[in-house]
This record gives sequence, structure tokens and C-alpha cells, in this order.
Amino acid sequence: MNLVIFGPPGAGKGTQSKFIVEKFNMFQLSTGEFLRKEISDNTKLGKKISSVINSGELVSDIIVSDLIEKIISNSKYQNRIVFDGYPRNLNQAKNLDNLLKKYKQRIDIVLKLSVSLETIKKRISERLGLEKRFDDNEKIAIRRFETYEKSTEPVIEYYKKLNLLKVVDGERPIDQINDEISAIISAI
Ligand code: AMP
Repeated sequence: MNLVIFGPPGAGKGTQSKFIVEKFNMFQLSTGEFLRKEISDNTKLGKKISSVINSGELVSDIIVSDLIEKIISNSKYQNRIVFDGYPRNLNQAKNLDNLLKKYKQRIDIVLKLSVSLETIKKRISERLGLEKRFDDNEKIAIRRFETYEKSTEPVIEYYKKLNLLKVVDGERPIDQINDEISAIISAI
């Protein structure tokens, strides 16, 4: 089984990905983490992408595609990948389909952790302990949330049409979300 997970910043996507990886013995392919590692290892690629990543823009589709192909083509990870942070646009979604086909695999399920902007804001304010600079943080949180919604919406629609999408209510306590995700994956 291969799985794609979506969720806005602050939705608990990282926590849920780690839960899935442990419970179902899967491999987390976080493109953001891989790219950050290239930067901290000071590789040729890392040097090339650091300014793009630091400015908050997306790295080119080709660079990320090469990176995920390395994992998809490795038999060690065959049919046990959690895609976290990929695909980010329709071009990447189609590219992912093609790559998986090339290595005789497919996406079995797409999870969307659904959390409202109000909840994200509430979580941030709790984390900050009602700091005075909440306004700034709130603005950044809203911008990141809107960017996520805008860029992933077409990709979500794409998977919905393919009947792969499961929307999970991310407003509930973590263990309840864990249980629902477990039930969805076990039913595949
Ligand atoms: P993330 O940790 O998923 O928020 O990713 C951190 C940064 O890595 C993003 O802001 C992008 O610059 C880059 N990145 C991660 N995944 C992708 C992707 N699928 N396509 C392009 N750039 C990406």
C-alpha cells in the first residue's frame, strides 16, 4: 500500500504520518525533510536549492521528481510509502502516477486531515501562551493556511475524482484521529 497525506500547517500531519509509519511499517517520504537534509549536508543540490527554500518558494518539479524516484525505485520501500509534502500541484500528481506505474505500484489511499482556520489559530495561540506578538504569528499562520488551501485544492479534486480521497476530521483528539486512520487503512 502507498498513501498520500494532506493537511494544512498545524493540522497534525507530522504526528499522524509518524503514527501510520510505526503502526503499518511504512516509510515516510517527506520531500521537505529530504530537501532540508540536502542543505544541511551541503551537497551540490543543497547549495542550489537553499535560497529557494529559504524564500518559501517551491523547488522545481524536476528536482523533487528525481528525489522521489530514488525512493520509489528502491525495492526496500516498495508499496510502503507515505507521501508527505508531495504532490504539491497537479503536474506533480500526474508525475507521481507515472512514476508509480513505471515501478508497478499505485496510490491506494489519499488522506486529507481537515482542520478549520479557526482551530489552527487557536492551537497557535495556545502554543504561544497568549504572547503579545500573536498578531504577527496569526498573520503568518493565515497566509500559510491560504497558500496550502489554494495550491492543494486542485490536487485534492484530482484524487476525489479517482475515488481515492478520504477526509478525516482533524479537529478531534489525536487518539480518535489515530483510530479513524487505522480503520481506513485496515479496510484497504
Ligand atoms: P515542507 O516541509 O513540506 O513544508 O517543505 C519545505 C519546503 O521544501 C517548501 O517550502 C518547498 O520549498 C520545498 N518543497 C517540499 N516539498 C516540495 C514539493 N513537492 N515541490 C516543490 N517544493 C517542495
